[in-house]
Amino acid sequence: MRKLLKYLNPIAQLGNRRYSLVLPTLTVIISCILLELLVHFMVLDQSSAGIYAIFISLVLVLYFSFHDGIIGGIIASALIILYYFYIMFTRRYMGSQLVAGIQTTVLLGLIYGFMSVIIGWLKQTIDILIEREADERQRLQTIIQQLPVGVLITDHSGRVLVTNRQADTIMGIKIPLGYVVGTDALVTSGKGRTPTSAAKFPLMQALGSGRAIVGKEYLLDRTDGKKRHVQISASAIHNKEGKVIAAASIINDITQQKELEKRKDDFVNMASHELKTPITSMKLYIDTLSLRLAKSADEKSVKIIRNIKNQTDKLQQIVNDLLDVSRLQTGKLTFTKEQFRLDHLLKETVDVLQQSAMKQQLVLTKTVPTKVTADKFRIYQVVTNLITNAIKYSGETTPINISLSRNSQFAVVSVQDFGIGIAKDQQRKIFERLYQVTDDTGKTFPGFGMGLYIAQQIITSHKGKIWVESSKGKGSTFYFSLPIQPKPSTIIHDGKSKTKKNPRRRR
Ligand code: ADP
Repeated sequence: MRKLLKYLNPIAQLGNRRYSLVLPTLTVIISCILLELLVHFMVLDQSSAGIYAIFISLVLVLYFSFHDGIIGGIIASALIILYYFYIMFTRRYMGSQLVAGIQTTVLLGLIYGFMSVIIGWLKQTIDILIEREADERQRLQTIIQQLPVGVLITDHSGRVLVTNRQADTIMGIKIPLGYVVGTDALVTSGKGRTPTSAAKFPLMQALGSGRAIVGKEYLLDRTDGKKRHVQISASAIHNKEGKVIAAASIINDITQQKELEKRKDDFVNMASHELKTPITSMKLYIDTLSLRLAKSADEKSVKIIRNIKNQTDKLQQIVNDLLDVSRLQTGKLTFTKEQFRLDHLLKETVDVLQQSAMKQQLVLTKTVPTKVTADKFRIYQVVTNLITNAIKYSGETTPINISLSRNSQFAVVSVQDFGIGIAKDQQRKIFERLYQVTDDTGKTFPGFGMGLYIAQQIITSHKGKIWVESSKGKGSTFYFSLPIQPKPSTIIHDGKSKTKKNPRRRR
């Protein structure tokens, strides 16, 4: 019954391009027969029957033009005209009555025909448009379903409107349409221990902030017990008025990539641990040898020994950096905090490095007495890295300016060189792990791209900031800041502080 009512409702049939010829034909014939029966059994008198006939015809033509397009309207009109002729014939119209009857019929026929064409054409055009839109939607759905990444599109309240197979596969559950993202603990946080609150889920963040959240990584604790590493990006979608109306999110399964990275990290960690001991022994032997040869050896031998020592120091530095990177990756890099004078540390570092920078001049342009509470050795490591980079990436004759300034909260150290500089688009990337700037031919400078990554991790773990201002070809100024309010001695584990009474040096 409901189906029949739906079929008869012309509005519900919009978009359906299967037009019926039977329905208008049967309905008009039945209507005419009914009208004839009503007249025959004197329910309607002859004169008012004509008016009823015109009114019913009009309704039928309108209805079928809108229900079955031009063809429906034309069939209804044609049958009605035939009925009018039938009336004239059976009522024996003669003379002027016949002429008036024919004239009226022709006029009504033209009106009905015109109405059928206009309304039918409108109906058919609407049908085509609706069908086209449905096709577009279907095509979009097919594309989204077959994308190699997970897709999740929600409305402004986080209710899922569109999802695809890949999203279900990655999440390990069927994400139902209408499910409100964030109401269930689908995702666990970075280390996989605590469930991520709804506010942290990138989609909710994008909806909340109206901005795009790019490449957030999570460890997914799936309901089937499997763990997957996923990378999620989400973006808020705004209407013309700038109001957030939806959010779209892309989910990538990066488990394989992570496993590969872990294997590489494990290998680097193992290799650098294995290298550490022989290098330490080598250094000891070289020191002993240089002491022994100090008096007897000729100048050439002393030079050779000095070169071996320098190269071993470099090797040790690389291995130490590798170990640091590896510790940072596993969250095992610890910091021993103590209170010390940053200005003194800067001066000492500049003096030490000036000896190896034969030609370049290191100038301490400005310094203020500043006490900080930090890991002295690690801060020394950061300053050394910035100054050795400045030496490495600038000409032999240009000076390198080092300064220390402070405000009420932070001490700021800057290292300025007038060397090759760094292009704008590379300036953020140089702090990434193993990132090296390439020159115009695609070549990199010697190095491993670890120093600035380690420096950044050290500084941010001390609640400071590190940044660069640079202009390609003109030089760079690297800055880092450290908070200066005094604090008790602490050990920081992977950025989280714990108080410790007797700090001990590692390495
Ligand atoms: P690397 O061992 O390769 O020097 P870093 O992490 O210290 O590693 O530096 C990363 C990249 O940043 C370098 O490859 C270099 O291209 C760029 N860079 C660092 N410091 C400077 C500088 N002072 N001037 C120009 N480029 C620099």
